[in-house]
Amino acid sequence: MKFYLYFGFILTFLSCENNVSSIKKSKENRLNTKQIINQKKDSSIIKLNKVILLDSLVDIQTINSEIQVDLKYASSDNFMKMKLYNRLSNAYLQKDVAIRLSNCQKFLSKIKPGYCLLVYDAVRPVSVQKKMWDALDSLPPSERGKFVSNPVNRSLHNLGAAVDLTIIDNTGVILDMGANYDDIRKIAYPNLEREFLASGELSANHIANRELLRRVMKSQGFRPLETEWWHFNACSRSEGKSKYKVLMDEP
Ligand SMILES: [Zn+2]
Repeated sequence: MKFYLYFGFILTFLSCENNVSSIKKSKENRLNTKQIINQKKDSSIIKLNKVILLDSLVDIQTINSEIQVDLKYASSDNFMKMKLYNRLSNAYLQKDVAIRLSNCQKFLSKIKPGYCLLVYDAVRPVSVQKKMWDALDSLPPSERGKFVSNPVNRSLHNLGAAVDLTIIDNTGVILDMGANYDDIRKIAYPNLEREFLASGELSANHIANRELLRRVMKSQGFRPLETEWWHFNACSRSEGKSKYKVLMDEP
């Protein structure tokens, strides 16, 4: 019985494929039947993998449409000055992480009516992490690690369990954090804020803005980094690895 159900599913799947493949008929006519069947099997496996990979990830704006998104790696407006995402244009996170982020937005709306979270990056495929790593191949690995994490180690971004973000105020202005997103200078380090305040390079307002972002994110257990004001982890790396699947490629 199971076999027939499975066989029926494959037939249904292949019949759906037929519509798509009709435009490629002239090319396929030159191939023998066995090759065509194998091609269809391969493409169905790829499609199924994509469904499975995206299954546990959700577009955060479908959970909370108040959250704004500007994926920096989907354009050349980033520290590498190159478009790194070819197909990814929405911000995806693990569903439980997205729900927590939505609760952060609700908390922000309560304490600062009209304010919104603005997400710069969420799930980041390992293939893109590798592109970033390879683009900096003129630097030794120890130096490269300061700009982008080694793709071999897998970051929580690869699991959809980390988010880069800032805040937009009730007039539509992005809060001034005293350093831009992906600024590699030490002025972006939360753990050095007091020193930069003392030297006058950061103002009390910059720090208040960063503290607001941290307060909002900590309200749902997100963890800040010591070196990037914009980055928050949903859990530890070991917990993330045991709970979530890595996204290897762009869906
Ligand atoms: Zn990040």
